[in-house]
Amino acid sequence: MKQLYIDFDGVILDTMSKTYEELEKLGIDKKDQKRVMQYFRDADWKKLIEETKEINDSINEIKKICASKKFNVYVLTHINSTAEMVEKIKYLHKKLPQVTVVSVPKEIPKTEVVNPSAAILIDDFSGNIKEWQKKLGIGIKFVKELEGSDYPEITHLSEVIDMFNQ
Ligand SMILES: [Mg+2]
Repeated sequence: MKQLYIDFDGVILDTMSKTYEELEKLGIDKKDQKRVMQYFRDADWKKLIEETKEINDSINEIKKICASKKFNVYVLTHINSTAEMVEKIKYLHKKLPQVTVVSVPKEIPKTEVVNPSAAILIDDFSGNIKEWQKKLGIGIKFVKELEGSDYPEITHLSEVIDMFNQ
């Protein structure tokens, strides 16, 4: 079975749109790194997760991937605080108890926490895909709608099932 790592923010839940809305409400400039970092460290992730929509039926799509028995499925997510890690794990344990969650501190690339070699990463951030491919991993870009980027793109997570024959 292939190792399959699925990103959380912007792939499973639309936390990116939600946090950008919040930043705007608070009058924080997205380019103001220091204040943005502070916002993420202090954010109420319980509330944020409760109020954020799933993207393109992501939870059911992951259930389909698990049912295909083709992959060892992990969620691989960057975190800014312990509170964020706790709330993401609680949410995922409830929705997808069969999936292992790997939390990576924001300061460290995902490729330094898990071994990308021959493993698949589905992520919405091109930078992560690029880094993953450099380390001989297979990168797939998750998009809400097709964008025609430099990477293979999917809009629904279960599309990965038919991309690999084993
Ligand atoms: Mg993401």
